[in-house]
Amino acid sequence: MDRKKVIVTGGAGFIGSALVRHLVLEQEAEVVVIDKMTYAANRANILPAEATGRCQLIIADICDQAAMREIVSREAPHQILHLAAESHVDRSISGPRDFIETNVIGTYSMLEAARAFWSGLPAGNTKDTFRFLHVSTDEVYGSLGADGLFHETTPYDPSSPYSSSKAASDHLAKAWFRTYNLPIVVSNCSNNYGPYHFPEKLIPLVILNALEGKTLPVYGDGSNIRDWLYVEDHARALSLIATQGRLGETYNVGGRNERTNLQVVQTICDELDRIAPAEAPRRELIEFVKDRPGHDHRYAIDATKLETELGWKAHENFETGLRKTVQWYLDNQEWWAPLRKSVYGGERLGLNDPQKV
Ligand code: NAD
Repeated sequence: MDRKKVIVTGGAGFIGSALVRHLVLEQEAEVVVIDKMTYAANRANILPAEATGRCQLIIADICDQAAMREIVSREAPHQILHLAAESHVDRSISGPRDFIETNVIGTYSMLEAARAFWSGLPAGNTKDTFRFLHVSTDEVYGSLGADGLFHETTPYDPSSPYSSSKAASDHLAKAWFRTYNLPIVVSNCSNNYGPYHFPEKLIPLVILNALEGKTLPVYGDGSNIRDWLYVEDHARALSLIATQGRLGETYNVGGRNERTNLQVVQTICDELDRIAPAEAPRRELIEFVKDRPGHDHRYAIDATKLETELGWKAHENFETGLRKTVQWYLDNQEWWAPLRKSVYGGERLGLNDPQKV
């Protein structure tokens, strides 16, 4: 049988690169990464995959429809796993435009490129097994109160420019299935964490600030709840959904690891104090700061469909995954130090400053 060939958009970012490493190093697949190499991308994330000779990076913008059509038809993949996106809620508050362009227009462009390729395939096995996986977030469902979980049937109710742009892209993917029969599957996942996470997001930001003895910002009173999933568990889920998921279906992905933001920050402090003690307990660095506008209170995923239908199960719980993550940042200063110095130094984003509109 031919080696599986997969296009991964956004494959030089955080989750995309975990997926690329999984596909290339564990499944021996051939991968073509399409990535614009924004601030969030890093070639180092895919170097282990590139070193095998089975991973090729194409630097391109998914909004460039002609380029996407040409690349998809030339590469003739068995699957397209679509992750390219602007992904940081705070940046979407400061400047929504890039989110609309990449997340909405870019998804449209990828769907059209896939449709042109797939509809031109002759009837047969390759056409029957081709899949387009649209990778999305649980944030499209909005905010939960104290109880309940997000199910695949939960109505969409996004709060931020980021989550509303992702919601729009999910609807496009479903429409391309219903209207054109394009073989689509959609996944909606909870918050990820793990190695190679760009240090603007809560967990890597807190690890690095704590290591450098800087204050640890907690939005509001720290009571907002997220459901955390280790990124390698997400990567396994994505590959499984792309290969075995039912057409036109949504699969929620989550690790059943709800924590308040304050608990997350405290756990990082305690873990760092255990393995790299400082003069004073790191919890003393915690500082409560102005809340994010429109901050969703709670996210929690019901992953029963993925677990029972496709047999997926998270390997890591929050404590084991966080231990691995903290250790990775301690061991990989050469990865994050240049980013902290020249790409993003930890300044506050997304305060909805009217002067910036
Ligand atoms: P990321 O920001 O780390 O990576 C995004 C990648 O997309 C980067 O490599 C960037 O260069 C690339 N990209 C951005 N605009 C592009 C464009 N116009 N053309 C081509 N490439 C472009 O994001 P991530 O955290 O790895 O998220 C990946 C996907 O997973 C996103 O679709 C996101 O919505 C979804 N998701 C993320 C989380 C999370 O916790 N991070 C949770 C659920 C779902």
